Amino acid sequence: MIDIAVVGAGTAGMTAAIYGRRAGMEVTVFEGNTYGGQIVATPEVENFPGFEKISGFDLADSIFRQAMALDAKFVFDQINSITKKDGGFVLTGDFGNEYEAKTVIIATGATNRHLGIDREEELTGRGISYCATCDGAFFKDKVTAVAGGGNTAVEDALYLAGLCSKVYIIHRRDGFRAEEALMVKARQTENIEILTPFVTERLEGEGRLSSVVLKNAVDGTEKTIEVDGLFVAIGQVPATNAVEGLVETEGGYIKAGEDCVTSCPGVFVAGDVRTKHVRQLATAASDGAIAALAAVSCIKMQ
Ligand code: NAP
Repeated sequence: MIDIAVVGAGTAGMTAAIYGRRAGMEVTVFEGNTYGGQIVATPEVENFPGFEKISGFDLADSIFRQAMALDAKFVFDQINSITKKDGGFVLTGDFGNEYEAKTVIIATGATNRHLGIDREEELTGRGISYCATCDGAFFKDKVTAVAGGGNTAVEDALYLAGLCSKVYIIHRRDGFRAEEALMVKARQTENIEILTPFVTERLEGEGRLSSVVLKNAVDGTEKTIEVDGLFVAIGQVPATNAVEGLVETEGGYIKAGEDCVTSCPGVFVAGDVRTKHVRQLATAASDGAIAALAAVSCIKMQ
Protein backbone atom coordinates (compact mmCIF):
# COMPACT_ATOMS: atom_id res chain seq x y z
CA MET A 1 0.00 0.00 0.00
CA ILE A 2 1.21 3.52 -0.85
CA ASP A 3 1.98 5.65 2.22
CA ILE A 4 1.16 8.96 0.56
CA ALA A 5 -0.79 9.21 -2.68
CA VAL A 6 -0.40 12.68 -4.15
CA VAL A 7 -3.01 13.60 -6.74
CA GLY A 8 -1.62 16.21 -9.12
CA ALA A 9 1.95 16.84 -10.25
CA GLY A 10 2.04 20.62 -10.12
CA THR A 11 4.31 22.63 -7.86
CA ALA A 12 2.33 21.70 -4.72
CA GLY A 13 2.12 17.99 -5.53
CA MET A 14 5.76 17.59 -6.53
CA THR A 15 6.93 19.50 -3.45
CA ALA A 16 4.78 17.17 -1.32
CA ALA A 17 6.51 14.22 -2.99
CA ILE A 18 9.95 15.64 -2.16
CA TYR A 19 9.05 16.14 1.51
CA GLY A 20 7.28 12.77 1.74
CA ARG A 21 10.26 10.89 0.29
CA ARG A 22 12.73 12.71 2.51
CA ALA A 23 10.66 11.53 5.48
CA GLY A 24 11.11 7.94 4.26
CA MET A 25 7.55 7.41 2.98
CA GLU A 26 6.46 5.51 -0.12
CA VAL A 27 5.07 8.29 -2.29
CA THR A 28 3.23 7.97 -5.58
CA VAL A 29 2.19 11.05 -7.54
CA PHE A 30 -0.78 10.62 -9.89
CA GLU A 31 -1.13 12.94 -12.84
CA GLY A 32 -3.66 12.82 -15.67
CA ASN A 33 -1.77 15.15 -17.95
CA THR A 34 1.87 16.15 -17.83
CA TYR A 35 3.90 17.17 -14.79
CA GLY A 36 4.25 20.82 -13.89
CA GLY A 37 0.65 21.98 -13.73
CA GLN A 38 -0.19 25.59 -14.56
CA ILE A 39 3.40 26.76 -14.25
CA VAL A 40 4.31 25.03 -17.52
CA ALA A 41 2.19 27.62 -19.32
CA THR A 42 3.96 30.53 -17.59
CA PRO A 43 6.58 32.00 -19.93
CA GLU A 44 8.75 33.65 -17.30
CA VAL A 45 8.70 33.27 -13.55
CA GLU A 46 10.39 36.13 -11.72
CA ASN A 47 9.06 35.71 -8.20
CA PHE A 48 10.16 32.26 -7.09
CA PRO A 49 12.95 32.61 -4.53
CA GLY A 50 16.32 31.52 -5.84
CA PHE A 51 15.58 32.31 -9.49
CA GLU A 52 15.77 35.85 -10.77
CA LYS A 53 14.15 34.66 -13.98
CA ILE A 54 13.27 31.14 -15.13
CA SER A 55 10.76 29.71 -17.59
CA GLY A 56 7.83 27.90 -16.01
CA PHE A 57 8.73 24.75 -17.91
CA ASP A 58 12.35 24.76 -16.67
CA LEU A 59 11.24 25.30 -13.08
CA ALA A 60 8.67 22.49 -13.29
CA ASP A 61 11.25 20.21 -14.88
CA SER A 62 13.74 20.90 -12.15
CA ILE A 63 11.21 20.15 -9.38
CA PHE A 64 10.25 16.94 -11.23
CA ARG A 65 13.88 15.85 -11.48
CA GLN A 66 14.40 16.57 -7.79
CA ALA A 67 11.39 14.38 -6.88
CA MET A 68 12.55 11.61 -9.25
CA ALA A 69 16.06 11.68 -7.77
CA LEU A 70 14.43 10.96 -4.42
CA ASP A 71 12.63 7.95 -5.96
CA ALA A 72 9.16 9.40 -5.84
CA LYS A 73 6.98 7.33 -8.15
CA PHE A 74 4.98 9.07 -10.89
CA VAL A 75 1.95 7.35 -12.39
CA PHE A 76 0.32 9.09 -15.36
CA ASP A 77 -3.30 8.24 -14.71
CA GLN A 78 -6.27 10.52 -14.16
CA ILE A 79 -7.76 9.89 -10.71
CA ASN A 80 -11.53 10.10 -11.01
CA SER A 81 -12.64 9.09 -7.53
CA ILE A 82 -11.27 8.58 -4.04
CA THR A 83 -13.13 6.49 -1.48
CA LYS A 84 -12.43 5.38 2.07
CA LYS A 85 -11.53 1.73 2.67
CA ASP A 86 -10.22 -0.14 5.75
CA GLY A 87 -8.63 2.89 7.39
CA GLY A 88 -7.11 3.99 4.10
CA PHE A 89 -8.26 5.08 0.66
CA VAL A 90 -8.85 3.64 -2.80
CA LEU A 91 -8.07 5.89 -5.74
CA THR A 92 -9.67 4.95 -9.04
CA GLY A 93 -8.09 6.05 -12.28
CA ASP A 94 -9.03 5.99 -15.94
CA PHE A 95 -9.79 2.47 -17.23
CA GLY A 96 -10.75 1.48 -13.67
CA ASN A 97 -7.22 1.07 -12.28
CA GLU A 98 -7.32 1.08 -8.46
CA TYR A 99 -4.59 2.19 -6.08
CA GLU A 100 -4.63 1.84 -2.27
CA ALA A 101 -3.08 4.45 -0.01
CA LYS A 102 -2.82 5.21 3.70
CA THR A 103 -3.10 8.96 3.16
CA VAL A 104 -3.95 11.24 0.25
CA ILE A 105 -2.78 14.72 -0.66
CA ILE A 106 -5.04 16.50 -3.14
CA ALA A 107 -2.99 18.88 -5.26
CA THR A 108 -5.15 18.96 -8.36
CA GLY A 109 -4.95 22.71 -8.91
CA ALA A 110 -7.37 24.28 -11.29
CA THR A 111 -8.30 24.39 -14.98
CA ASN A 112 -8.65 27.44 -17.22
CA ARG A 113 -11.90 29.38 -16.93
CA HIS A 114 -13.65 30.00 -20.25
CA LEU A 115 -15.35 33.25 -21.26
CA GLY A 116 -18.59 31.37 -21.78
CA ILE A 117 -19.61 33.27 -24.91
CA ASP A 118 -20.89 32.11 -28.29
CA ARG A 119 -18.38 30.49 -30.65
CA GLU A 120 -15.66 30.20 -27.98
CA GLU A 121 -15.39 26.41 -28.33
CA GLU A 122 -15.70 26.52 -32.15
CA LEU A 123 -12.83 29.03 -32.46
CA THR A 124 -10.55 27.38 -29.89
CA GLY A 125 -7.44 26.41 -31.84
CA ARG A 126 -8.63 28.74 -34.61
CA GLY A 127 -7.48 31.95 -33.00
CA ILE A 128 -8.54 31.34 -29.41
CA SER A 129 -6.04 29.90 -26.98
CA TYR A 130 -5.69 29.46 -23.22
CA CYS A 131 -1.90 29.17 -23.24
CA ALA A 132 0.37 31.92 -24.54
CA THR A 133 3.55 29.90 -24.02
CA CYS A 134 2.17 26.96 -25.97
CA ASP A 135 0.57 28.86 -28.87
CA GLY A 136 2.21 32.30 -28.92
CA ALA A 137 4.65 31.33 -31.69
CA PHE A 138 1.72 30.81 -34.10
CA PHE A 139 1.02 34.55 -33.85
CA LYS A 140 4.46 35.90 -34.70
CA ASP A 141 4.16 39.45 -36.13
CA LYS A 142 0.37 39.29 -35.80
CA VAL A 143 -2.12 41.20 -33.68
CA THR A 144 -3.38 39.47 -30.55
CA ALA A 145 -5.40 40.26 -27.46
CA VAL A 146 -5.32 38.86 -23.96
CA ALA A 147 -8.49 38.81 -21.87
CA GLY A 148 -8.01 39.15 -18.10
CA GLY A 149 -6.50 41.37 -15.45
CA GLY A 150 -4.53 38.99 -13.25
CA ASN A 151 -0.86 38.01 -13.22
CA THR A 152 -1.39 35.38 -15.89
CA ALA A 153 -3.00 37.80 -18.35
CA VAL A 154 -0.35 40.48 -17.93
CA GLU A 155 2.55 38.00 -18.01
CA ASP A 156 1.03 36.50 -21.18
CA ALA A 157 0.70 39.97 -22.75
CA LEU A 158 4.34 40.77 -21.97
CA TYR A 159 5.44 37.48 -23.48
CA LEU A 160 3.29 37.99 -26.59
CA ALA A 161 4.54 41.57 -26.98
CA GLY A 162 7.96 40.07 -27.76
CA LEU A 163 6.46 38.07 -30.63
CA CYS A 164 3.46 39.95 -31.93
CA SER A 165 3.19 43.29 -33.69
CA LYS A 166 0.54 44.43 -31.21
CA VAL A 167 -1.11 43.07 -28.09
CA TYR A 168 -4.31 44.35 -26.48
CA ILE A 169 -5.10 43.62 -22.85
CA ILE A 170 -8.87 43.52 -22.37
CA HIS A 171 -10.02 43.80 -18.78
CA ARG A 172 -13.49 44.33 -17.34
CA ARG A 173 -12.38 46.84 -14.66
CA ASP A 174 -9.94 49.75 -14.54
CA GLY A 175 -8.18 48.14 -11.54
CA PHE A 176 -5.94 45.11 -12.07
CA ARG A 177 -5.22 42.15 -9.81
CA ALA A 178 -1.82 41.74 -11.45
CA GLU A 179 1.25 42.77 -9.45
CA GLU A 180 2.19 46.43 -9.85
CA ALA A 181 5.65 45.46 -11.15
CA LEU A 182 4.02 43.66 -14.08
CA MET A 183 1.62 46.54 -14.71
CA VAL A 184 4.51 49.01 -14.87
CA LYS A 185 6.22 46.81 -17.47
CA ALA A 186 3.01 46.44 -19.48
CA ARG A 187 2.35 50.19 -19.50
CA GLN A 188 5.93 50.82 -20.62
CA THR A 189 5.74 48.30 -23.46
CA GLU A 190 5.10 50.19 -26.69
CA ASN A 191 3.10 47.53 -28.52
CA ILE A 192 0.76 46.78 -25.60
CA GLU A 193 -2.52 48.68 -25.47
CA ILE A 194 -4.70 48.33 -22.37
CA LEU A 195 -8.46 48.45 -22.95
CA THR A 196 -10.64 48.91 -19.85
CA PRO A 197 -13.35 48.58 -18.66
CA PHE A 198 -14.35 46.17 -21.43
CA VAL A 199 -15.85 42.71 -21.55
CA THR A 200 -15.44 40.40 -24.51
CA GLU A 201 -18.91 40.39 -25.95
CA ARG A 202 -18.71 38.59 -29.33
CA LEU A 203 -16.24 36.66 -31.44
CA GLU A 204 -16.22 37.15 -35.21
CA GLY A 205 -14.56 35.48 -38.16
CA GLU A 206 -15.14 32.99 -40.97
CA GLY A 207 -13.54 29.71 -39.95
CA ARG A 208 -11.10 31.45 -37.67
CA LEU A 209 -11.10 34.46 -35.37
CA SER A 210 -10.68 37.81 -37.12
CA SER A 211 -12.18 40.30 -34.68
CA VAL A 212 -13.55 40.69 -31.19
CA VAL A 213 -16.43 42.92 -30.20
CA LEU A 214 -15.94 44.53 -26.81
CA LYS A 215 -18.62 46.07 -24.64
CA ASN A 216 -17.84 48.93 -22.28
CA ALA A 217 -18.78 47.71 -18.81
CA VAL A 218 -19.84 51.21 -17.73
CA ASP A 219 -21.70 52.81 -20.63
CA GLY A 220 -22.51 49.71 -22.72
CA THR A 221 -20.97 51.09 -25.93
CA GLU A 222 -19.35 48.58 -28.29
CA LYS A 223 -15.94 48.63 -29.92
CA THR A 224 -14.49 46.15 -32.42
CA ILE A 225 -10.83 45.24 -32.53
CA GLU A 226 -9.30 43.25 -35.36
CA VAL A 227 -7.12 40.46 -33.99
CA ASP A 228 -5.59 37.24 -35.22
CA GLY A 229 -5.59 35.68 -31.78
CA LEU A 230 -7.31 35.96 -28.42
CA PHE A 231 -5.64 34.50 -25.35
CA VAL A 232 -8.10 33.90 -22.54
CA ALA A 233 -6.49 34.28 -19.11
CA ILE A 234 -9.39 34.94 -16.76
CA GLY A 235 -8.49 32.66 -13.90
CA GLN A 236 -9.13 29.07 -13.07
CA VAL A 237 -11.81 26.72 -11.85
CA PRO A 238 -10.67 24.41 -9.02
CA ALA A 239 -10.39 20.73 -10.01
CA THR A 240 -12.32 18.85 -7.33
CA ASN A 241 -14.13 16.11 -9.29
CA ALA A 242 -12.19 13.28 -7.68
CA VAL A 243 -13.08 14.28 -4.11
CA GLU A 244 -16.78 15.06 -4.49
CA GLY A 245 -18.53 13.97 -1.30
CA LEU A 246 -15.25 13.06 0.41
CA VAL A 247 -14.17 16.47 1.72
CA GLU A 248 -15.88 19.72 2.57
CA THR A 249 -15.58 22.52 0.00
CA GLU A 250 -16.18 26.25 0.10
CA GLY A 251 -16.84 28.30 -3.03
CA GLY A 252 -15.70 25.29 -5.07
CA TYR A 253 -12.32 25.02 -3.30
CA ILE A 254 -11.37 22.30 -0.81
CA LYS A 255 -11.77 23.75 2.64
CA ALA A 256 -8.62 23.75 4.78
CA GLY A 257 -6.54 26.21 6.75
CA GLU A 258 -2.80 26.78 6.55
CA ASP A 259 -2.32 23.30 8.08
CA CYS A 260 -3.72 21.79 4.85
CA VAL A 261 -5.98 19.45 6.87
CA THR A 262 -9.34 18.70 5.21
CA SER A 263 -12.60 17.62 6.82
CA CYS A 264 -11.71 13.96 6.08
CA PRO A 265 -9.01 12.49 8.37
CA GLY A 266 -6.09 11.21 6.28
CA VAL A 267 -6.83 13.55 3.34
CA PHE A 268 -4.78 16.73 2.97
CA VAL A 269 -4.92 19.47 0.37
CA ALA A 270 -2.17 21.59 -1.16
CA GLY A 271 -1.94 24.40 -3.68
CA ASP A 272 -4.49 26.32 -5.73
CA VAL A 273 -7.33 23.88 -5.06
CA ARG A 274 -7.31 24.83 -1.34
CA THR A 275 -9.30 27.72 0.14
CA LYS A 276 -6.69 30.47 0.54
CA HIS A 277 -6.04 34.12 -0.23
CA VAL A 278 -2.69 33.96 -1.98
CA ARG A 279 -2.26 31.54 -4.87
CA GLN A 280 1.38 31.77 -5.87
CA LEU A 281 4.10 29.30 -6.75
CA ALA A 282 5.77 29.98 -3.42
CA THR A 283 2.57 29.29 -1.48
CA ALA A 284 1.91 26.14 -3.55
CA ALA A 285 5.37 24.85 -2.62
CA SER A 286 4.74 25.80 1.00
CA ASP A 287 1.44 23.89 1.01
CA GLY A 288 3.14 20.86 -0.50
CA ALA A 289 5.66 20.77 2.33
CA ILE A 290 3.03 21.29 5.04
CA ALA A 291 0.62 18.71 3.61
CA ALA A 292 3.37 16.10 3.25
CA LEU A 293 4.60 16.57 6.82
CA ALA A 294 0.99 16.39 8.08
CA ALA A 295 0.51 13.13 6.16
CA VAL A 296 3.75 11.77 7.65
CA SER A 297 2.52 12.58 11.19
CA CYS A 298 -0.83 10.99 10.43
CA ILE A 299 0.86 7.76 9.27
CA LYS A 300 3.14 7.66 12.31
CA MET A 301 0.10 7.97 14.60
CA GLN A 302 -1.74 5.07 12.90
P1 NAP B 1 -6.78 35.70 -11.25
O1 NAP B 1 -5.74 36.34 -10.43
O2 NAP B 1 -7.93 35.04 -10.58
O3 NAP B 1 -7.30 36.80 -12.26
C1 NAP B 1 -8.35 36.50 -13.14
C2 NAP B 1 -8.65 37.76 -13.90
O4 NAP B 1 -9.66 37.47 -14.86
C3 NAP B 1 -9.18 38.88 -13.02
O5 NAP B 1 -8.64 40.08 -13.45
C4 NAP B 1 -10.68 38.82 -13.25
O6 NAP B 1 -11.29 40.07 -13.19
C5 NAP B 1 -10.78 38.33 -14.65
N1 NAP B 1 -11.99 37.53 -14.87
C6 NAP B 1 -12.47 36.51 -14.12
N2 NAP B 1 -13.59 36.02 -14.66
C7 NAP B 1 -13.82 36.75 -15.77
C8 NAP B 1 -14.83 36.71 -16.76
N3 NAP B 1 -15.82 35.82 -16.73
N4 NAP B 1 -14.76 37.61 -17.77
C9 NAP B 1 -13.75 38.53 -17.83
N5 NAP B 1 -12.76 38.60 -16.92
C10 NAP B 1 -12.80 37.72 -15.90
O7 NAP B 1 -6.20 34.54 -12.22
P2 NAP B 1 -4.72 34.33 -12.80
O8 NAP B 1 -4.17 35.56 -13.36
O9 NAP B 1 -4.80 33.14 -13.69
O10 NAP B 1 -3.88 33.94 -11.52
C11 NAP B 1 -4.30 32.85 -10.68
C12 NAP B 1 -3.41 32.82 -9.46
O11 NAP B 1 -2.10 32.42 -9.87
C13 NAP B 1 -3.26 34.20 -8.82
O12 NAP B 1 -3.18 34.07 -7.43
C14 NAP B 1 -1.98 34.71 -9.39
O13 NAP B 1 -1.34 35.67 -8.55
C15 NAP B 1 -1.19 33.43 -9.50
N6 NAP B 1 -0.17 33.56 -10.54
C16 NAP B 1 1.09 33.75 -10.11
C17 NAP B 1 2.11 33.87 -11.02
C18 NAP B 1 3.48 34.04 -10.52
O14 NAP B 1 3.66 33.91 -9.30
N7 NAP B 1 4.45 34.33 -11.36
C19 NAP B 1 1.84 33.84 -12.40
C20 NAP B 1 0.53 33.67 -12.81
C21 NAP B 1 -0.47 33.53 -11.86
P3 NAP B 1 -11.56 40.83 -11.79
O15 NAP B 1 -10.21 41.31 -11.35
O16 NAP B 1 -12.49 41.91 -12.18
O17 NAP B 1 -12.17 39.81 -10.89
